[in-house]
Amino acid sequence: MQIIRNAHELKKQISPLKKQGKTIGFVPTMGALHEGHLSLIDIATKKSDVVIVSIFVNPAQFSENEDFGTYPRDEEDDLKKITHHNVDFVYMPRVEDIYPQGFDLKILTGELGQQLEGMARPHFFDGVALVVVKLFMQTCADVAIFGEKDFQQLTIIKNVVKALDLDVKIIGAPIIREKNGLAMSSRNQYLSAPQKQIAANLYKQISAVKNTLEAGEDVESAIDNARKSLLKSGFDKVNYIEIRNSDSLSKETRGAQNLRILAAAYLNGVRLLDNV
Ligand code: AMP
Repeated sequence: MQIIRNAHELKKQISPLKKQGKTIGFVPTMGALHEGHLSLIDIATKKSDVVIVSIFVNPAQFSENEDFGTYPRDEEDDLKKITHHNVDFVYMPRVEDIYPQGFDLKILTGELGQQLEGMARPHFFDGVALVVVKLFMQTCADVAIFGEKDFQQLTIIKNVVKALDLDVKIIGAPIIREKNGLAMSSRNQYLSAPQKQIAANLYKQISAVKNTLEAGEDVESAIDNARKSLLKSGFDKVNYIEIRNSDSLSKETRGAQNLRILAAAYLNGVRLLDNV
């Protein structure tokens, strides 16, 4: 496993491999790695000859009141976790490798990027799209793996790839959960053990909505009950619990097929996302 800290060095390593016809599998992350990230890496090793994992806390996707400065960073621990997962390159670029001086390009993700997560974080997906496209170019990725944990992000990346005719296959990977059902997330580190127990209610409640939907019962009151239960159990705020089409994320009515229930809520000031 080689550690690469700048774009020039990455190109030097990757170019000859591409010339030999090797396929590149890519897993972008912001570090503070957990089993969810490792599951994406394991998929990448099955789908490609060479695996690159990037670790980059992307300033462009944080707004001023968010946790860019305090986002968990532990390089040593991350590298230790990756060691046994057949990764060829860990790419940890400097900010200037992604955003060189004078860089002023923007990608606007439009309507899809303004809803759900985009309501609370209007510039978030534009920042994500930009860094992901830069990283696709720098890594020469053939295949890239993204978690369904960030379902809207996965949908937006698929759209960006299609819109820009990028030759990268996007694979969505299932959500890895703690034993109590809580979706693993780097930001779970901000929660105490009792708070993690409360946090698990998010999955429990959206699963209850799913069961109601599948039973063909009144889903609006199920969503209302889920909201109330979350607040009662200790959540500060429920941003949304919504039923959307799995492919387009457009709003869906009862009886439709191919649905996702997506939710976001705050617990102790930490924004938690989940979907089923
Ligand atoms: P992040 O480091 O939070 O930017 O996440 C990097 C990638 O890991 C994204 O594609 C996430 O969707 C994915 N990911 C994060 N948590 C999980 C999880 N619990 N299960 C599966 N994938 C995840």
